Amino acid sequence: MPSSMSSRRQRTQDQVLAVLAEHGALTRADLSHLTGLSRSAVASAVTLLADQELIDENPIETGAATRGRRPTTVELRQRSGIVLAIDFGHAHITTAVATTSGDLLAETATHLDVDSHPQEALDTATDLATQALAQGGGTPDQITGIAAGIPGPLDIHTQVVRAPTILREWTGLNPAEELSRRLGHPVTVANDADMGARGEHMFGAARNINDFLYIKASHGIGAGLVLGGRTYRGSTGIAGEIGHTRLQGANNWCRCGNRGCLETVVSITEVRQQLAHVLAPDHPVADGDLPPLADLAPHPAAARVITDAGRTIGLVLADLVNCLNPAAIILGGDLGTAGEPLAQGVRESINRYAQPASAHAVTIACSTLQQRSELLGAVATAIHHNAAR
Ligand SMILES: [Zn+2]
Repeated sequence: MPSSMSSRRQRTQDQVLAVLAEHGALTRADLSHLTGLSRSAVASAVTLLADQELIDENPIETGAATRGRRPTTVELRQRSGIVLAIDFGHAHITTAVATTSGDLLAETATHLDVDSHPQEALDTATDLATQALAQGGGTPDQITGIAAGIPGPLDIHTQVVRAPTILREWTGLNPAEELSRRLGHPVTVANDADMGARGEHMFGAARNINDFLYIKASHGIGAGLVLGGRTYRGSTGIAGEIGHTRLQGANNWCRCGNRGCLETVVSITEVRQQLAHVLAPDHPVADGDLPPLADLAPHPAAARVITDAGRTIGLVLADLVNCLNPAAIILGGDLGTAGEPLAQGVRESINRYAQPASAHAVTIACSTLQQRSELLGAVATAIHHNAAR
């Protein structure tokens, strides 16, 4: 075979593997649509990949007798081994080691100013992941996949951070390349809210739900959108930046250069300041020393502050509910740990401002993964990507 034809075939197979790694099981028609390849190119790639035992093709159970070729889905074949997951927050890094069946073996964590020191954060993450691997009893040759979430948007075409207003010091960096070089293994990187959504989808409150929004409400506020069972990231990867939606009547400057953005009113820093103010007689401490939100939520005055934050986030979410008609909204991040008072506020605004039929269709819940949605989403991503390597 001429080498140009062979390399073109390899490229076609790589495209099919990448799309399967991203989306999970797909029909051949979906593969053609998502790769832009012709149906016949997809068919020959599927045959070659099946011969190499890299993918499986399974019939779809339609429950009805069908004429002609039975519809099938194609998916990556899972290899057993160990995966590494990394979650970069604005001020922390956590890593996990898990089996390809999703059983966690070890976790490590540290606090660090991730936003301002990208190279140090990448080095620290590498050390932490290596420690977690040793603690979990694994060795580098057992690794079948590594994935990491970062707290800013990535360009989906170039994998480069494009966030001059959100993650300034990381702009122009390619975290997947940086981590792959350090860890000696390919690394898949995605935005943290998207990772959180994947974590909820595989391990948390959104299991078996194919249309939902995961809201990471911490220092920033971002949404991971899962629509039709797939992560939706928009044309270049920046979808879900709801923290920069303008609120009527709000006027504070935001780090993005606009005034009145959602996250200037209800970031975890703002809510903690409000709580410290309200609780001053009971907790005469700086807001940084406040007890965890989950412990404060039963306090009647604290619950009001938290519910009020929920109502404010709910104003923005009501518009999204009208637009996307999701089945669930899962509230995560630092604010998500506040539980029912937060969910109640969100629900009130959605009931008030979204169209009744859409409001009725959506369930509002706080994450039950205890701020590990993003880390577990990286585990899920590393598991699904493992067969592509
Ligand atoms: Zn903003």
